[in-house]
Amino acid sequence: MSIANLARRVVRALTPYQSARRIGGNGHVWLNANEAPLAYPFTVEGSRLNRYPECQPAEVVNGYAAYAGVNPNQVLVSRGADEAIELLIRTFCEAGEDQILICPPTYGMYAISAETCGVGIVEQPLTASRQPDWPAIADRLSDVKLVFLCSPNNPTGDLVGRKGLVALLEKARDRTIIVVDEAYIEFCPEASVADLLTQYPNLVVTRTLSKAFALAGIRCGFTLGDPEVIAMLAKVIAPYPIPEPIAQIAAQALSPMGLDLMRERVLELNKQKALIKAELTRLPCVREVFEDKGNFVLVRFIDGAAVFAAMKAAGIILRDFSSKPGLDNSIRITIGYQGEMDAVLQVLRELCVNTPSAASV
Ligand SMILES: *Cc1c(COP(=O)(O)O)cnc(C)c1O
Repeated sequence: MSIANLARRVVRALTPYQSARRIGGNGHVWLNANEAPLAYPFTVEGSRLNRYPECQPAEVVNGYAAYAGVNPNQVLVSRGADEAIELLIRTFCEAGEDQILICPPTYGMYAISAETCGVGIVEQPLTASRQPDWPAIADRLSDVKLVFLCSPNNPTGDLVGRKGLVALLEKARDRTIIVVDEAYIEFCPEASVADLLTQYPNLVVTRTLSKAFALAGIRCGFTLGDPEVIAMLAKVIAPYPIPEPIAQIAAQALSPMGLDLMRERVLELNKQKALIKAELTRLPCVREVFEDKGNFVLVRFIDGAAVFAAMKAAGIILRDFSSKPGLDNSIRITIGYQGEMDAVLQVLRELCVNTPSAASV
């Protein structure tokens, strides 16, 4: 008998999240994890490291609250948005009893966190226009504790429609928590739904420093919600979730200078996104360019496998979504700086000369 048989059933059966780092790959152009292309050199001061850090570092909580336009008691800081997702499930779902609802294709961690917690998953796929299926979700509200929506959605790039969301929040009042994952909201800040938090105590918004803030390496994310929801999550979170050096870096990222840098980065990446999108729509080997509200663009090619292989051969690592329902031949390209985008386009131009065009298929 293997010692692994001692593990819980769900853990033995689990396929872990295929993170970009876990999949690995060799290459010099990394466009597979929606990270920012360049790092900013933050400084860390080491004189307090003999002490445990604050559970919820005040400077970080206050800085994020000011940035997000909410009160500090509406903010929880965690080890990335991924920990926020798991905390929500552990706080609100009874193992072996409760369920969450997700709208695939979407971010993979909602399902994986639910599975590891022994919590059921109701799948309500996005509609043909890649919106949450509002009537179908409303029908399932009494069966689920949490609904996870992602806006902009990873990997399709679509925003969740505000009208549909507001109607759902009304129907879900006192019954179900609606989580809107805004990991990429800095790339289209006008689309945030955080302003609805004051009206709807059942709305929760998750955020991260990993994408637009260029800090995936420090693992720092946020939950915005009703003070009562935040207080519940704070009961469940680990006693010292945010290491002191991380708190220092996050505080710098949320300072006026840090926010300026972030907004400049967003402008530049959105510019690169518009440029590559225009080029992609002209290429005959491209069948469809999806919505582009994040720092990535999902592209359906005539032959996705050939594109993925050619990129790999050229040292460019992308993320393949072709095995996901409705996403055959689709590859997600993270928006990087100019040189990286040029490298992608060069491979595609060479490949497209040798592939049949959409019209002839
Ligand atoms: C990247 C990502 C996250 C995870 O963010 P971390 O703060 O790095 O854990 C959460 N949700 C979505 C949709 C993401 O794409």
